[in-house]
Amino acid sequence: MSIKDNLNKIKATIPKNVSLVAVSKTKPNADLLEAYEADQRIFGENKVQEMTQKWGDLPKDMEWHMIGHVQTNKVKYMAEYVSLIHGVDSFKLLKEINKQAKKFDRVIPCLLQIHIAKEDTKFGLDEVELLDILSSDDFKNLKYIKVVGLMGMATFTDNEAQVRGEFQFLKSLFDTGKIKLSTLTILSMGMSGDYKIAIEEGSTMIRIGSSIFGSR
Ligand SMILES: *Cc1c(COP(=O)(O)O)cnc(C)c1O
Repeated sequence: MSIKDNLNKIKATIPKNVSLVAVSKTKPNADLLEAYEADQRIFGENKVQEMTQKWGDLPKDMEWHMIGHVQTNKVKYMAEYVSLIHGVDSFKLLKEINKQAKKFDRVIPCLLQIHIAKEDTKFGLDEVELLDILSSDDFKNLKYIKVVGLMGMATFTDNEAQVRGEFQFLKSLFDTGKIKLSTLTILSMGMSGDYKIAIEEGSTMIRIGSSIFGSR
């Protein structure tokens, strides 16, 4: 199946309120253009340098989402153009994004990444850290970032009950977070292997790579 066929097949099965991020990391520009020609506009990358290169080379109406772990010293390279940063996992990083966004006089939308997997390799905040950030005065003073939702990655396992439970936990934090911060509208959860479960559990944004572009 072609990239276009893969995309159309996925789009036909997801509800209208769920947005699709086409995860194009490691893939050549030609693959992204094929998706673009099939009307895909949102692309997800996990390395700032690779994303910035693609942003420079490809059509200007593509939207770039940073879905990987971000080092503070890399924020400056994407501050001009990034549409959404999914993996914000510290207050320090949020402050740096705010500082770099200010230079371009723009507000950068961010998601706070929550650690939901039973694996220590995956980054993210725990519940206490999340609530600490949302209720801090320092956070309220950051004018050049806007926290618009939460993101999480479930454990990589065939155990569906476990994956579902992790997504349910993230959804419950999202609902709690929304009470403190009304700008929380995006719940980014679900990848090629688990997006159907994620949607059943309340995802509003899925990040799909291999099911669109093939294996990496
Ligand atoms: C690579 C990646 C994806 C996409 O993974 P697939 O299994 O290829 O769909 C989604 N989210 C994040 C954070 C990733 O790094």
